[in-house]
Amino acid sequence: MANVKFSVYPPCNVMRAFLKEIFIRTGSRVEFVDITREVEEAVRESGIRSGVAIIFTPHTTTGIFLNEDEGGLKKDLERVLERLIPGKGGYLHDEVDHNAYAHLRSIILGVSLAMPVENGGLMLGAWQSIFLAELDGPRGRRVYVKVIGSD
Ligand code: ZN
Repeated sequence: MANVKFSVYPPCNVMRAFLKEIFIRTGSRVEFVDITREVEEAVRESGIRSGVAIIFTPHTTTGIFLNEDEGGLKKDLERVLERLIPGKGGYLHDEVDHNAYAHLRSIILGVSLAMPVENGGLMLGAWQSIFLAELDGPRGRRVYVKVIGSD
């Protein structure tokens, strides 16, 4: 049997939960919006010092991902998504509405992230930014930031 060691520090802090909705109006069909500042602001507002932040978008044609905010890389991602899941692919969902490619790209990217919160902030790497991927815009989009932890 594996030797599992539990440690809870500090031992007496009360767990709390916080939720914030972020609204983003996107400006084009496909767009990667850097929402790092808004998410960091939500974590600060929560007052939680140590815990976890869940960043979630409640749509079927958006995505959430972490990476470097660099223009060339964002263009590369757009091209790779187009290559993997072309706009026109004879998709069955296009018989219902005409955005199957956007749904499929959302499935590939995923719609949430879980990140550690320490010392009241997100533990982001030096080159990491948080992105909302608009895949069927322009539209109004929502992102939820749920923070769970202790003071
Ligand atoms: Zn659809």
